[in-house]
Amino acid sequence: MDAQTLEQRLQELEQQTLLLEPTSLERLPVQQAVEAYAQSFLEDLPHLPVFVEMPDKGAALLDSPIQEDGMPVQAALSLLQAHVDTPGINPASGGHMGYIPGGGLYYSGLGDYLAAVTNRYAGIFYSSPGAVRMENMLIRWMAQEIGFPADTSGNLTSGGSIASLIALVTARDAQAITCRIIPDSVIYCTSHTHHCLDKALRIAGLGECQLRHVPMDAQYRMNPSALAQAIKEDTEAGLKPWLLIASAGTTDVGAVDPLPELAAIAQQHQLWYHVDAAYGGFFALCKAGKEKLKGIELADSVVMDPHKGLFIPYGSGAVLIKNQNQLAKSHHYQASYMQDTLSVTGEVSPADVSPELSKHFRGLRIWLPLKLHGIAPFRSALEEKLLLAQYTYQQLQALPGFEVPVAPDLSVLIFRYVPDAAIDANAFNQNLIKAVQLDGRVFLSSTLLEGRFMIRFAILSFRTHKATLDLALEILQQKAKELEAAWEQTTVC
Ligand SMILES: *Cc1c(COP(=O)(O)O)cnc(C)c1O
Repeated sequence: MDAQTLEQRLQELEQQTLLLEPTSLERLPVQQAVEAYAQSFLEDLPHLPVFVEMPDKGAALLDSPIQEDGMPVQAALSLLQAHVDTPGINPASGGHMGYIPGGGLYYSGLGDYLAAVTNRYAGIFYSSPGAVRMENMLIRWMAQEIGFPADTSGNLTSGGSIASLIALVTARDAQAITCRIIPDSVIYCTSHTHHCLDKALRIAGLGECQLRHVPMDAQYRMNPSALAQAIKEDTEAGLKPWLLIASAGTTDVGAVDPLPELAAIAQQHQLWYHVDAAYGGFFALCKAGKEKLKGIELADSVVMDPHKGLFIPYGSGAVLIKNQNQLAKSHHYQASYMQDTLSVTGEVSPADVSPELSKHFRGLRIWLPLKLHGIAPFRSALEEKLLLAQYTYQQLQALPGFEVPVAPDLSVLIFRYVPDAAIDANAFNQNLIKAVQLDGRVFLSSTLLEGRFMIRFAILSFRTHKATLDLALEILQQKAKELEAAWEQTTVC
């Protein structure tokens, strides 16, 4: 290309590229349309169904392919509204009490907006010292809330799964579990341990370790004497016990393992002690929750999810690790000479302690709501959730036909309806939850407990209050009655 053609082409391309930089006059209506969309979403939220089953499951979105020319913002928002924000579960709704909800704080959305517009790179201290300081400050705040020491290190991740991976890779290296000894190395957890830990173990090359599912007590908490016995047998058999995974709030029933007792056993046998508090960790913010989580401060590593108990939108997990040198050793990619200076140079760079290099500036979506609201309302919301679980437990126990096998440790509650003896209880409860979900005013999910089909309340959204639970209990009674009547009619015919 000769110089003149080159210049001409560059001019053309520059003109076209400028389309990517709307002027303030062009930005304003788009920004207003997006904001109006968000506002009407929030205004409508109390009346929106929490679950919508659409026959096409949003497939009509694909009728509008990604194409050369842009479209007006209203048209794009209409696509979003119809095909994305309608079908399936509405996790922003206070009626969402399935799986593990959280909600999604509005100020987090504004934090994300600013993080995206300014595009600070929070991976390396040198590149954005303020952003890295903010993320590490949040990690130290979480550490303080659960009773971890001031020099705790860690990482803000996309969620509990990646946070668990970081913890287990660090544990693996701290315990010197290399490939030759993997088949003789033993890990202890329960059958209620979250599946993301199995996934993390496999990804970390630890899938061929021996995995012991330690028996649980009647409340589905790990039994410490069964653990001690298993370790004893494994040691006598010449195996190497090295990792204990406890849960501070299981997904199935919300059980908190006996953390102090397990810590003592881990310490006695020099196991790495990991506590999965992805769901339960932020209950440490309220007094009753802190009491339940006693012993968590004795762990070597803890995972807790801001997108659960801190009500941040999806995409926010955290891992806290006491041994900051080991965390860095297991994840650094160039500078082993920096290890000793980690705390001296200022701040640990997230890129040195995680699998990521380029990453979302996740701190801002947590920092902004914490700064604007203060911690106090979070403490109240979490205490409210614990008490709502107690309230629901008491109400359900008093309702004829409903069976509640265990009192909730935190805010997950399992129950089922026990129908007339002639009716198969599992099939009945499966139909009951389907009916509740299709009703669309509240969303509950289910689990299997020793072959019994159980329905679950997971009360965690900051938008869930007493009226939500009263409504759910009313719907459950009504649907159970209708189903039972319909069932009896079909058997009569
Ligand atoms: C949600 C959850 C996880 C997994 O975390 P993600 O953020 O979904 O990746 C792990 N453990 C428990 C107990 C959980 O509730």
